[in-house]
Amino acid sequence: MRSTGCDVVVIGSSNIDMTVRCRELPLPGQTILGDDFVITPGGKGANQAVAAAKLGARTQLIARLGNDVFAEASMNSFSRAGLGTDYIVRDETSPSGVALIFVDENGENQIVVAPGANGKLTPADIDRALPVIENAKVMVLQLEIPMETVRHAAQLATQHKTRVILNPAPARVLPPSLLEQVDILIANETEVLVLTGADDVDTSTAARACGPLLEAGVESVITTLGKNGAVITSGVGATKVPGFKVKAIDTTSAGDTFAGAIACALAQGRSLEDAVHFANAAAALSATKQGAQVSMPTRAEVEKMIESQ
Ligand code: ADP
Repeated sequence: MRSTGCDVVVIGSSNIDMTVRCRELPLPGQTILGDDFVITPGGKGANQAVAAAKLGARTQLIARLGNDVFAEASMNSFSRAGLGTDYIVRDETSPSGVALIFVDENGENQIVVAPGANGKLTPADIDRALPVIENAKVMVLQLEIPMETVRHAAQLATQHKTRVILNPAPARVLPPSLLEQVDILIANETEVLVLTGADDVDTSTAARACGPLLEAGVESVITTLGKNGAVITSGVGATKVPGFKVKAIDTTSAGDTFAGAIACALAQGRSLEDAVHFANAAAALSATKQGAQVSMPTRAEVEKMIESQ
């Protein structure tokens, strides 16, 4: 039976990341030998949904996967995280999204993403999930699916008084009609610069840089600043929320863990400032382990981290 009860609904991409480490990145036309080949489930939508589910929020992911072995690997990861998959569509004609990644000894990378079924997620797929959208407390969106679908989902959430969180990644300038539907925008430094045209953003300038986004109708902007934590900007001013000190090993999915944790904390009734504190702890923990979905912490681990600092 399909579920109507959930607190967080995430609408977005699911990919399989295929990574090979190599001494140097290959030049065009060159064949080189690399290290072992590693397959891990990724994609911003799936990562953020897994983060929220592992932290204890009742979460559903709305996404499109292919009908292939890669989809099976993603589904296994979702089931380990306790993530709801009732509204995941298996596309019969397009393959699952994949990211082909080469990483050299200095951490420099080359990535090609083949979006596959992610590019086929339609407004009709979103409409089918109306029972969960109208009951959810928050909806989380990113930009790795068609913009028409993102806009439709935000509109539907607004109509049903479900709070809209947008993580505008990959960064691009956004239409005013979308911004006005967004309650909370979570953006890293690069994304804020692209969205606002500002030429600088740090703990002291975030509030000024985010001004145009508030004028466009966004209620609050959370600017994430790596190890420095995050700054919340809203109509009442700016609040800095310091990060947690950890030995970071791999920060690739820190931003996704942060967004999933914000959704989880808000759905459970916390204030925005408390939610950012919780998300800083969750994201810092995810940076202490390799990988995306496998590196995401549980609620107990985050609570222990918060108590210990
Ligand atoms: P993205 O991963 O999208 O580039 P950031 O680098 O701003 O975004 O990281 C997102 C969040 O992850 C930060 O706001 C912070 O909470 C946490 N984080 C990232 N890097 C570190 C780090 N080195 N130490 C502690 N926390 C970190």
